[in-house]
Amino acid sequence: MLNFEFQNPTKILFGEGQIAALGREIPENARILITYGGGSVLRNGVLDEVKSALSGRQLFEFGGIEPNPTYETLMKGLEIIKAESINFLLAVGGGSVIDGTKFLAAAACWELGDPWDILLHAGKGIHRALPLGTVLTLPATGSEMNCGAVISRANRQINLPAGGGSVNAGVQSVITQSYNEKLFFTNPLVYPRFSVLDPSKCYTLPARQVGNGIIDSFVHVTEQYLTYVTGAKVQDRLAEGLLLTLIEEGPRALAEPENYEVRANLMWTATLALNGLIGAGVPQDWTTHMIGHELTALFGMDHAQTLAVVLPALLTLQLDEKLDKLVQYGERIWGITEGADKARAEAAIAQTRAFFESVGVATRLSDYGVKEENLGEVLERLNQHGFVILGEHQSVTLERVRQILLAAL
Ligand code: NAP
Ligand code: FE
Repeated sequence: MLNFEFQNPTKILFGEGQIAALGREIPENARILITYGGGSVLRNGVLDEVKSALSGRQLFEFGGIEPNPTYETLMKGLEIIKAESINFLLAVGGGSVIDGTKFLAAAACWELGDPWDILLHAGKGIHRALPLGTVLTLPATGSEMNCGAVISRANRQINLPAGGGSVNAGVQSVITQSYNEKLFFTNPLVYPRFSVLDPSKCYTLPARQVGNGIIDSFVHVTEQYLTYVTGAKVQDRLAEGLLLTLIEEGPRALAEPENYEVRANLMWTATLALNGLIGAGVPQDWTTHMIGHELTALFGMDHAQTLAVVLPALLTLQLDEKLDKLVQYGERIWGITEGADKARAEAAIAQTRAFFESVGVATRLSDYGVKEENLGEVLERLNQHGFVILGEHQSVTLERVRQILLAAL
């Protein structure tokens, strides 16, 4: 087991009816901005329930945060925060609303120029943030109990040296290109103070989002588990427990949308998949997410769709490096006990792909209209963002990424 520090300050209020407890979690005199997405919380009554739990408080609203939340939209929220002297943020929604609200929390206190720099510096330089809480309506990202956020920006103008390559302050001749970007930041100051997890609020989720949530959680686990074998048995078995729960309960959530216990198991699994617990003291490989963010920015694919495409291809290409762990995964998760190690690892990858497809998410880039001639752009973006060497052994070069993307077609 590797050395680690682990601290997670987010208080979880789990279960049906817990929205009613919101009042005691937020200071009495707070000026509260409730943030939400495109309207699901208006239609399913969650927003009304939140407002009635906070009746008599100073409430303000900012809706319209889109999936893959954008800087442009969030800057409008920032204006409200400043105009109304907001001092507490309450995100009501899925990962996009929560991530966007984390950005607002940091941007509201950012004194170093354009808040987009928060993303360019991956969260370094945040010294203060507004406090935030969340009411989760979509189990997937773990954002409700972690300190990360992913924000997109349409048409950012980037100056490039006319000859190609990376930006260099000394270069005189530049061309300006316009890009959609999707970047992450992390900082302990944006951990939610609390998150309300009421599984019954997931009943209204469309099947597409249920499938997406299962895959996002699954891949969060594998990125902290499918590396190389260490002595970290606790982390391995926690990770395996989460994977087995997703495999058992994921399809049931699609078949029985109003089964409370199924939703409860999925919700807690998604949170535990990315709250720091299973990743403490083990190697990690976030290559799938890093490639995935570029695929969303370039081609508009859902976050989970990108993961479902990249992970099987990545595991196949990295089979030798991950062989021992893939064999363990095959045996403990899929019951594969026969055959040579390589064949067992390949069978485990095939089972993974079949599982993703069984919850309704296609696993080939071509399923989303992405073609071989588009792949160069993905590599260019990774290069520009400095993600040129990835993986638990820092062995995934851009050439390796190219092979992974080709295999993913
Ligand atoms: P999402 O983008 O927050 O929501 C997807 C859709 O689900 C929205 O259209 C939303 O509608 C709808 N929805 C949410 N709850 C609903 C409910 N209870 N009933 C009906 N519809 C509902 O999805 P997400 O997968 O949670 O978040 C994805 C984002 O999180 C991506 O940007 C991804 O990169 C990021 N992410 C973050 C982390 C992290 O650690 N912070 C990790 C992985 C991924 P409305 O907009 O109308 O509400
Ligand atoms: Fe994710």
